[in-house]
Amino acid sequence: MASQEKKTFLQQVEVEVLPECDVAVAGGGTAGVVAAIAAARQGARVVLIERYGYLGGMITAGNAGLTMYMKYSGNPEEHLRDERTLETDPAAVQIAGGLAREITERLLREKIGVGNADTFGSYVFTASEDFKRLLFRMMKESNVKLMLHSFLADVIREGNTIKGVVIESKSGRQFIPAKCFVDATGDGDLAAKAGVPFEVGVTPEDICAAHAGVGKMQPAGVMFKVGNCDLAKTMRWLTENPHRFQEHPFSRFSLETVRRNFEKGDNAIMLVRYDTDDPDDWVQVYNLPQPGVVTLGCPCVYDIDGCNVEDLTRAEMAMAETVHKEIERIRAEIPGFENICLLDCPQIGVRETRHIRGRYVLNLRDIYEQRDFPDSIGFGSHPVDTKPRPAWLDDPKKAYPARWYFKIPYRCLVAEKADNLLVAGRCVSATHEASGSVRPTVQCMITGEAAGTAAALSFREKTTPAELDVTLLRTTLKKAGVLL
Ligand SMILES: Cc1cc2nc3c(=O)[nH]c(=O)nc-3n(C[C@H](O)[C@H](O)[C@H](O)COP(=O)(O)OP(=O)(O)OC[C@H]3O[C@@H](n4cnc5c(N)ncnc54)[C@H](O)[C@@H]3O)c2cc1C
Repeated sequence: MASQEKKTFLQQVEVEVLPECDVAVAGGGTAGVVAAIAAARQGARVVLIERYGYLGGMITAGNAGLTMYMKYSGNPEEHLRDERTLETDPAAVQIAGGLAREITERLLREKIGVGNADTFGSYVFTASEDFKRLLFRMMKESNVKLMLHSFLADVIREGNTIKGVVIESKSGRQFIPAKCFVDATGDGDLAAKAGVPFEVGVTPEDICAAHAGVGKMQPAGVMFKVGNCDLAKTMRWLTENPHRFQEHPFSRFSLETVRRNFEKGDNAIMLVRYDTDDPDDWVQVYNLPQPGVVTLGCPCVYDIDGCNVEDLTRAEMAMAETVHKEIERIRAEIPGFENICLLDCPQIGVRETRHIRGRYVLNLRDIYEQRDFPDSIGFGSHPVDTKPRPAWLDDPKKAYPARWYFKIPYRCLVAEKADNLLVAGRCVSATHEASGSVRPTVQCMITGEAAGTAAALSFREKTTPAELDVTLLRTTLKKAGVLL
């Protein structure tokens, strides 16, 4: 609901100027942490600005899983068994290297995440508090300066050059000057404040525009954690009642695979159906490294604008009731969950707000038809995850060929109308539909790594991100282990 258009003016305020850095990254979530580390590893002096007291955004506090690292297959069992390829030619099946891979390997090694132990995992769910600590350690190792509890409140620009950002915190208002900026706020706050054009939700370029309506955004939702769950009992019950099991639409693990994974301590991810005839009446279940603790998802709230504080407030209040009801239902209907208790219900998770306009706007055809881009900075392989969407995408088994993946062009990260700004994460330049494939976590890490690297290189080469030599960028990413 839009508030009344009544406006007032603020008085001019004195602002403390902090030391200049080479690269300032706004937003310490999925893409931002990776962007900051990548820029620091290129020798840049990096400041990472985060509004909360922890890092990770949706991948820690939001309980989202890290997906997908492998080319998409309708048959993951066959895919993961392809050991010779994994050993001898990993690029033939994997899509994510670089920092996404490094972070995941650490998560699995330190038993902070569950994935597929044989590979480095294509679906990894984590113990979020331990993950937050790991990210702090990685910031220290990379020498990134952290500014936590700091909300990006404003941007100062001269012409098309951003001179610095204003942050608001308990210390008051402070100004951080920098040479190059990465917007990894999810909502594209920095870019929007810098006057970069953006689209919100469905646009006329989307194939679904005719039936979905322009401006329609994806629903918001939460993944919540419960404790005291006897998942071994649930697995035994599902074996006897296989009709209550449903494959997860993206992992497509069979009941047999889920059971085997669970016994090995790997990722047992599935949908458990409620006792109704409605094929869509289920709960998502993700096991975690802590015994008895699982992540459940994903109740949604519709028609929420994640950049409108009244909508967000309404969503939080509605979601608290929805999660409470869902827990009561799970306790009553799913054996093994009788005694669960709610451990955490994160703040509302926003799937879609601004798509910042870049030098290229990625669209559904680019993704689905695997278009080749000479300036590609990495791959994605997450099927298009949007509601609503074209009906022909509804069956991922039919819609995507085996070993399907897509390329992400660098130009989607280079903001229009701001010479020293890159964007990373879910606000990159893509249509509503293409965003359904680029916004998942590992894809956000891939855009984060490219944006951070490009920001540092632009500073070092005394050029702008738009003028940066793409061959240099791609060579540097390759050296860092990114798969191209
Ligand atoms: C409910 C839900 C479940 C999901 N589940 C999955 C899943 O299982 N697998 C998957 O691959 N994807 C999943 N996704 C999608 C995925 O989690 C997100 O799209 C992705 O993590 C977004 O990364 P990001 O870096 O763009 O944003 P975030 O991870 O949200 O990070 C943005 C960061 O910026 C900070 N920030 C924002 N504004 C400001 C500001 N003005 N000043 C300072 N800091 C600011 C935030 O606090 C946050 O830390 C899910 C999404 C939702 C909503």
